[in-house]
Amino acid sequence: MAESSRRQRREGKQPVDVRDDGGEGGFVWDVGDDIEEKERAELMLVGKIWASKTTNVRAAVDVMTKLWSPKGAIVGNVIDAKNKIFVFRFSDIRDNNRVIEGQPWHFDNQIWCFDEPSDMGKLTDTPLFLVPMWARIYDLPVRGRSNEANLRKLGEQLGKFVSMDVIPNPEIERAVRIRVLHNVRQPLKSTVSIRMPNGMSREFDVKYERLQATFCYGCGVFEHGEKECEEGPYEEGELRFGEWMRASPWKVTKTVVEPVGKAARSLGGNLTRRLK
Ligand SMILES: [Zn+2]
Repeated sequence: MAESSRRQRREGKQPVDVRDDGGEGGFVWDVGDDIEEKERAELMLVGKIWASKTTNVRAAVDVMTKLWSPKGAIVGNVIDAKNKIFVFRFSDIRDNNRVIEGQPWHFDNQIWCFDEPSDMGKLTDTPLFLVPMWARIYDLPVRGRSNEANLRKLGEQLGKFVSMDVIPNPEIERAVRIRVLHNVRQPLKSTVSIRMPNGMSREFDVKYERLQATFCYGCGVFEHGEKECEEGPYEEGELRFGEWMRASPWKVTKTVVEPVGKAARSLGGNLTRRLK
């Protein structure tokens, strides 16, 4: 697989920062030049379930492989049951890509993080706390919605910007849609702030797609619900996060009326021609 496509599949993640144990012992590990082994390694994903409650990781791995309805075989194994870390090896690149692009995944309302294993260090060193998500920011000013620099800055407020959704008529949509990398150890953000050219600062609501996993409506992190939260108990009005942050599946507005007759020659017609 080309290096560029591997980078793309990592969705903006940085190379693994591997801890050096400091010793001088051992020998230089030779990864060798076995092409088949290299190709198999490129079809692997390491994963972790983020949940404070007990989970049967083996059962979760088995169920998810079936749920993905893969085109090719997937083999999976639990490598650290205590920390809920497991590994998958795909045999069809399309399955591998579908799992990466379909994130976030969850099983039994517990969110999963994935990454590609590094050739350096331990398999369990793979950083497994970042999850790409589609975030929607609602009610933004009409002008500037297509400006990537604006959307990048919004993405950096939510985590790390990965990409923006390019749609035909962003000015008539209720929200803009950006792919961001979220650190599951930190609270989800429910709003973003921007400063208008006149100096006025406004906050805008954020919702996330495929957000079906449990997260704490009190402190905003995955792993537990508000009833298990160490910062609780919470009164009804104290919850800063909620069900409203879960977005329904995205549908691009398709209502397009082509001007006819006289209307086509008027301003409407000019506008249509200009926007085509
Ligand atoms: Zn909490």
